[in-house]
Amino acid sequence: MKLVIDENRCKGCNLCTQVCPYRIFSPGARANRKGILVPVLDRPERCTNCRLQALYGRTLCGVCQLTCPDQAIGWVSERPYEPVRIEVEY
Ligand code: SF4
Ligand code: SF4
Repeated sequence: MKLVIDENRCKGCNLCTQVCPYRIFSPGARANRKGILVPVLDRPERCTNCRLQALYGRTLCGVCQLTCPDQAIGWVSERPYEPVRIEVEY
């Protein structure tokens, strides 16, 4: 699973930057086309939901999602791992 912020909903209030125990959200530095500083994600794969939600089939933390007043935070499925052929020369 992959953590995403819906830029169409986010208003840049930065509540999410204060509640995550892993400090995955940081205040945004660049305004988007609506002039909003959407938070940026720092290594979101550290989030328990990103790592384990698919395995356990339920939300394991979700504090940021509960806190966000605009329902802008969610998780999307990632494409399954696609193996690539590697040739090793001896
Ligand atoms: S809490 Fe929600 S609306 Fe506020 S900055 Fe975070 S994602 Fe955006
Ligand atoms: S679900 Fe919890 S650990 Fe994951 S980003 Fe949100 S607050 Fe952080």
